Amino acid sequence: MEKVLIRNVENYDLKVYDFVKDCFDMDLKGKSVLVKPNFLLAKDASSAVITHPVVIEAVLKVIIEKGGKPFIYEIPSIGSALNAAKKCGVDKICSDLDVEIKELGEFEFVENSSNVHFKKLAVPVAAKADFIVSLAKLKTHSLMGLTLGVKNMFGLVKPDNRNQMHFKTGRDRDAFAHMLIDVFNFVKPDLTILDGVVGMEGNGPSNGVPRKFGFMACSKSAFALDSAVVKIVGQKDSEIPIQRIAKERGVYEEAEVVGDHVYIGKTIKMPDSFTGSPIFGKVQKISYPLAKRLFDAKPVIVLDKCVSCFNCIKICPAKAISPKDKKPVIDYSKCIKCFCCHEVCPEDAIKIHKTYLRRFIEKRVKRSLK
Ligand code: SF4
Ligand code: SF4
Repeated sequence: MEKVLIRNVENYDLKVYDFVKDCFDMDLKGKSVLVKPNFLLAKDASSAVITHPVVIEAVLKVIIEKGGKPFIYEIPSIGSALNAAKKCGVDKICSDLDVEIKELGEFEFVENSSNVHFKKLAVPVAAKADFIVSLAKLKTHSLMGLTLGVKNMFGLVKPDNRNQMHFKTGRDRDAFAHMLIDVFNFVKPDLTILDGVVGMEGNGPSNGVPRKFGFMACSKSAFALDSAVVKIVGQKDSEIPIQRIAKERGVYEEAEVVGDHVYIGKTIKMPDSFTGSPIFGKVQKISYPLAKRLFDAKPVIVLDKCVSCFNCIKICPAKAISPKDKKPVIDYSKCIKCFCCHEVCPEDAIKIHKTYLRRFIEKRVKRSLK
């Protein structure tokens, strides 16, 4: 069992700093400290897409007070870390505290023979540090159900590698979860802090609905932190692929929760593209064309909302989207249903369409599992 500190933090105020201070019981004197926020896209703080600037500021301040030398490193899905930092005001915080924002730079291949899918990974040289702090955001995720501590480290993967990984694992949620755990094994953070003050539910991680969950969590084990948070938001380990695969691989850790009792009221609303049942996951893998047509959820572009930024074309790992008359068009014969396009659309112009049969079966499966 690993300790997870969880406390009610209702607003982005001084309570954030008080919580963060209690997360750091280690000596950081003279150490370089990588702070890895979730900067999925350049969004303002109220969007709930990114780790809130107040959390980032508190973490940087505490590290400095403890004698450490923090820097920020992140590779957003689209755009630069500096732009993302400017959009939410983190650039000003960093310049006031004399903290550098780094991104990209050189990559070097490292090996991990105990991994399952990815035994080698190009990791950023600029992100090397004596101590790593992951600042995760509590959000739903179209493929993984939830994005918490373990998934946050995917942001340190070289962009073209990320695309290959998406393409290689395709729609197979379990394979994708294996891959995320592989990535985590390369860049194991020493400390994970989760911003759950205002998170996101529905069609996250970028086009869902902000929701006040009113808590923060922290642990030296991201697996333990994730297992505690999954329960708080009313989900089952068996339905969240990272949790399920972590158990299979023997890396899952139970949480020994210390701090407050957190009650969020009602279960988090999961994305339309996601169904937690492993049984349904197996049906999804069926490759007969008819079964695909009957069961698949698919991305659909809402042309009226589309501003032709072509983020979706840039990110699509299957090269299934191309421009036609200045608008993107999806070739469903190539689409692997990874929903990366949905994730990076700034206008929520990509909807997730589910067949009637799929919605009907999901409801039945969910009911039977209760
Ligand atoms: S669908 Fe979204 S991401 Fe794609 S071009 Fe339109 S606005 Fe941009
Ligand atoms: S069209 Fe969207 S869902 Fe389909 S492969 Fe491309 S990014 Fe993934």
